[in-house]
Amino acid sequence: MPDKILNLENGISAQLLDNCIDRNEIPDADNADIWIINNDKAWNVRKFLVSLIRHPDPKVFLKPVFLQKDLKKVYKEYKNYNLKQLCDGYIKELDIQNKVPYIRFILNFVKNLNPSISFSEDDLLKRTLMYYYSRNKDIEFYESSESLSGYSYPRIEAYYDGATESYANGRALLNSAYKNDFLRRNYVDTSHICKKCYSGFLNYREECPQCKQHNLQVRVLIHHFRCAYVATEQSFWQGEKMICPKCSMELKNLGVDYDKPGKVFYCLNDLCKHEFQKPLIGVHCINCKTEQTPSELNMEKIYNYELTKKAISEIFT
Ligand SMILES: [Zn+2]
Ligand SMILES: [Zn+2]
Ligand SMILES: [Zn+2]
Repeated sequence: MPDKILNLENGISAQLLDNCIDRNEIPDADNADIWIINNDKAWNVRKFLVSLIRHPDPKVFLKPVFLQKDLKKVYKEYKNYNLKQLCDGYIKELDIQNKVPYIRFILNFVKNLNPSISFSEDDLLKRTLMYYYSRNKDIEFYESSESLSGYSYPRIEAYYDGATESYANGRALLNSAYKNDFLRRNYVDTSHICKKCYSGFLNYREECPQCKQHNLQVRVLIHHFRCAYVATEQSFWQGEKMICPKCSMELKNLGVDYDKPGKVFYCLNDLCKHEFQKPLIGVHCINCKTEQTPSELNMEKIYNYELTKKAISEIFT
């Protein structure tokens, strides 16, 4: 059964896409003004949206595509697919009333393009500029614990396969567009990510400066006022009592005959047992298991991007 075509208000026609999504088949873009996803298999929907984004025909990659609010709860389990970020968002019960000017702007933009225009695989910059221009949107980062570095540009990254490649190539595309004055950028945040795989899922912990292991114990220091002796709490305990190992006096009241000036780390590695005040910090990448020091991490600045005048004239040439 072919996917249904409906006439919605304001003379906008919509094709409900279901079977073609399962087959990952792109329908004839001339059949309807907009596409509405009518398929609840999130993975298939994602694959289909990615195919649209990568498609060289502007009638396809610029097509207004909506998800249905009714299916939102089904997609919710698959947050990492970023479905909403890969299309024009949700509509409720086929009501496009408040989206009409948005849709009209896109349709006019597409209609006025040179009909013979088509893009090679490599012309991602121009395709990106056209898309964001037609949506009147900035290229904004999307923050999510499901993404590799924690900050992603889902639509840009959808051009590429593989998390690390998508990250690296997507950032390279944005950077070069910025350097070539197609994009202006606005600083948002700074993040530290794995030097090898760009993951932001990192575990920071103290390490022994001698043997580099991280199974450490924190020990409280005791300072005996009377004789000025300083040692770890353990060395004062004798049964129930605290006795100073230097002067043999009993310690009774914190703040009166002794205080706790700080703490030291004790290495629980039996071959090391080093006691020290300043540990090293080690960073373990949970994604690729690489160990690194904080200074080895990649530091990344996160930006939102706006199209420049140069970008807009590039779109119309
Ligand atoms: Zn050690
Ligand atoms: Zn003492
Ligand atoms: Zn890593």
